[in-house]
Amino acid sequence: MPLDAKIPGGPLAQKWDRHRFELKLVNPANKRKFEIIVVGTGLAGGSASATLAELGYDVKTFCIQDSPRRAHSIAAQGGINAAKNYPNDGDSIWRLFYDTVKGGDFRSREANVYRLAQLSNDIIDHCVAQGIPFARDYGGLLANRSFGGAQVSRTFYARGQTGQQLLLGAYSALSRQIGAGKVKMFERREMLDLVVINGQARGIIVRNLVTGQIERHDSHAVVLCTGGYGNVFFLSTNAMASNVTAAYRAYKRGAYFANPCFTQIHPTCIPVHGAYQSKLTLMSESLRNDGRVWVPKNPGDKRSPQQIPESDRDYFLEEKYPSFGNLVPRDVASRNAKEQCDMGKGVGATGLAVYLDFENAIYRDTKAVIEKKYGNLFQMYEKITGEDPYQTPMRIYPAVHYTMGGLWVDYNLMSSIDGLFVMGEANFSDHGANRLGASALMQGLADGYFIVPYTIGGYLAGAQFPEVNTDHSAFKDAEHDAQSRLNKLLSINGKRTVDDFHKELGLIMWEYCGMARNNQGLEKAQKLVRQLRAEFWENVKVPGSAADFNQSVERVGRVADFLEFGELMIIDALARQESCGGHFNEDFQTEGHEAKRDDENFCYAAAWGFSGDDGQPQLHKEHLVFENVELTQRSYK
Ligand SMILES: Cc1cc2nc3c(=O)[nH]c(=O)nc-3n(C[C@H](O)[C@H](O)[C@H](O)COP(=O)(O)OP(=O)(O)OC[C@H]3O[C@@H](n4cnc5c(N)ncnc54)[C@H](O)[C@@H]3O)c2cc1C
Repeated sequence: MPLDAKIPGGPLAQKWDRHRFELKLVNPANKRKFEIIVVGTGLAGGSASATLAELGYDVKTFCIQDSPRRAHSIAAQGGINAAKNYPNDGDSIWRLFYDTVKGGDFRSREANVYRLAQLSNDIIDHCVAQGIPFARDYGGLLANRSFGGAQVSRTFYARGQTGQQLLLGAYSALSRQIGAGKVKMFERREMLDLVVINGQARGIIVRNLVTGQIERHDSHAVVLCTGGYGNVFFLSTNAMASNVTAAYRAYKRGAYFANPCFTQIHPTCIPVHGAYQSKLTLMSESLRNDGRVWVPKNPGDKRSPQQIPESDRDYFLEEKYPSFGNLVPRDVASRNAKEQCDMGKGVGATGLAVYLDFENAIYRDTKAVIEKKYGNLFQMYEKITGEDPYQTPMRIYPAVHYTMGGLWVDYNLMSSIDGLFVMGEANFSDHGANRLGASALMQGLADGYFIVPYTIGGYLAGAQFPEVNTDHSAFKDAEHDAQSRLNKLLSINGKRTVDDFHKELGLIMWEYCGMARNNQGLEKAQKLVRQLRAEFWENVKVPGSAADFNQSVERVGRVADFLEFGELMIIDALARQESCGGHFNEDFQTEGHEAKRDDENFCYAAAWGFSGDDGQPQLHKEHLVFENVELTQRSYK
């Protein structure tokens, strides 16, 4: 069934203005009659909760952590894009739009991306007004640096802590509304199910992670801002609590899941160093502004980096992509690093690393300048590896970082369930098959501060809302389902820990559905995931009880969902018989080993619908229409 994205008519640059005018309004006195649930307090959820409450709606906000400000967004390092053109280097809204569509390998929706580029400038103004301490140049203007896939400097930053500073801004705005009584904050709650009544999202079921109590919460609309699912790979740069549960349970209630196989593998992470590791650490892409990526020219060269002369070094990105050099997009940089390691040119004990070298930059700009720009990142690297990156090049390797897939949403950010809005990394979003650096923060804040406040009003003003409360049978049934599932998982009392299953799943996904895939491997992975899932439901062990604070109980539910969702990713990857962005199927590549798209057959967003535990997911296609940019083979040469 083709999907209707409800893209407004008219010229691209006027669509959003026109749509905002055409959307129905809820008058100020009526806003307080509506209750809205927001799940998640990262940049998307924090900004949405604060803004909706400021408008006058009654908001209930939920998060897993003990404080909204501990959401995963706090980890974002490098920056946030906007088309301000402060450096006067040729940027414009159109260029940001174009770079983003091209960066996403032409698998995103033009109208959404254009709106995002337009709103990018408002975000910076808004955040400056909040007091976010963005870096400034000597004249006082906000400073910019470059990120991958762009030839201009448009990334605003606060050292290597941009996410933290932006989240503090959103959290302050949220706290004001909590104080004013317009936001009721529910920390330490995990959403376990969505309640749908007469086709409308009307509430959620959550577990209180401290008391173990299952709770029901009703509302007129639900906004999911629950982040990405990169932890399906076990090892990723995501926060430990990042998960797919809220989105996946909404999928099981009828929301379509779009492009689940589009995973971003970030090229600059600290390489895996042992089997007992549970987390990978990102070294921000901003470092590629000054760091040069290289490997020894000769496979198997075991000399220390200082002993390898210039003539024996291969600056493979600068060589292959002279226009963009080290700042090619992430998918391209990651694949090239893997290719070098596959040729035996990788460095370090495992051979699965390449160098990121600052020697030239320190010589050119002085150590003090480099320290000012990246000091906290260098310190983090040294703490983890015991090596001083001012003296010896960093060793980096690609790792799972971000997920472009997510719940399908229309132009209003509403899913295929009426009244269920999805924002930030949780939706399938504006990034197509590959996200350009510094654009996730931009998207989450555009969604929360500037889009949903309008579009949710349009929905609330236009829909009918039968009287519903938490005694409704749909709430009872959903609570019963959540409780029974938990009881079942706890009663298995098998021999393998939850983490043991999670690790095995991660290895399967990384090996067969990671940086490079092929049909044979994907088919094998599907079988392996099914076998592992079957064993999980027979042999998982959850110590302790569900009646109090127990992180094994939290994790077992999330891993159960990952074990189902992993298969959906594989099904999606198998169905997309082309390569694009983060989905690199080895069977479809150009002579230069770049992703080879098939625009004739796959120029669509693949939105999967749930059809029962034993049924095959149903594919719904949103055909992507490009009226303003020409579909070309992506080139960064
Ligand atoms: C190390 C790192 C660095 C990054 N740096 C940058 C950068 O420099 N620039 C950039 O643009 N992007 C960056 N990104 C990406 C960016 O940080 C994320 O995409 C973005 O912050 C996601 O925001 P979000 O609001 O969608 O979700 P999150 O910040 O992930 O928030 C999710 C929220 O949902 C809640 N939640 C989740 N599941 C449930 C549930 N079942 N029940 C209740 N609550 C739930 C959580 O408690 C949390 O509050 C980086 C990512 C990583 C991993």
